[in-house]
Amino acid sequence: MRDKYDREVNYLRISVTDLCNLRCRYCMPAEGVKKLPQCSTLTHEEIVEITRAAAELGVNKVRITGGEPLVHRGIVQLCRDIGAIPGIRDMAMTTNATLLAPLAPQLKEAGINRINISLDTLDAEKYKSITRGGCLDDALAGIHAALECGMSPVKLNAVLIGGFNDNEIEKLCALTIDLPVEMRFIELMPIGDNREFGEGAYIPNTTVLERLPELAPMKTDDGVASLFALPGARGRVGLISPLSHEFCSRCSRLRLTSDGYLKPCL
Ligand code: SAM
Ligand code: SF4
Repeated sequence: MRDKYDREVNYLRISVTDLCNLRCRYCMPAEGVKKLPQCSTLTHEEIVEITRAAAELGVNKVRITGGEPLVHRGIVQLCRDIGAIPGIRDMAMTTNATLLAPLAPQLKEAGINRINISLDTLDAEKYKSITRGGCLDDALAGIHAALECGMSPVKLNAVLIGGFNDNEIEKLCALTIDLPVEMRFIELMPIGDNREFGEGAYIPNTTVLERLPELAPMKTDDGVASLFALPGARGRVGLISPLSHEFCSRCSRLRLTSDGYLKPCL
């Protein structure tokens, strides 16, 4: 399937729920998040049917996301059914991982090979604050469970926020020395209400390279992140720059919202 800009569309991001067990400050307001009425959210069967139709049109990669996909009851069976669709060769998930530890082996067996996990800070108090109540240890347990059951790659996503976690760049990158993970920094996007972070919150990803000049460029394996590595590290550091750099020309994605809309772009 090709779009009108002649980009091949082979990747479907499926939002299986609009619900989330956290309320990250850059993503959702503290209160008043309107829950979609149940009658307008896609059912298990509808998600599978739409994915099957997409696969017939050439989609061969899917990413399961949300909201928080792990709050979806029946997520393991849903992954199993999507993974069994002819033509789907690769299935990944994006999650905050706070509910992942007990589910990781079942998800792996259901076909989730690759996983992206949100991790903005390594400080338990700051984690609790940015997620409005989340527990850092739960997320770390999820990361270790993903590695232990053999998901690969495991990518950790930190939204880079000036005045919040820019003083942890070195510490977050140091995770890659012993763990085979890709630590990715995502520039803060002006979605939701980010006013509380103040004017200095929007900082470019080049800040990471200024802090760690020893980061060496690596060959990039996907269309989104620029990859680097610390000397002798097992893992990689990735920079995703939705604001300061363009990657739209290489985008191959379609998004399915939990209420059944298809969106070519955020
Ligand atoms: N709940 C899952 C999670 O947190 O990984 C999946 C959904 S979450 C919306 C997907 C990604 O969007 C996360 O990595 C999150 O950090 C990122 N995100 C959310 N709001 C953002 C913002 N304002 N700027 C940049 N990235 C953002
Ligand atoms: Fe939930 Fe993910 Fe948004 Fe955080 S970034 S509020 S975990 S959907």
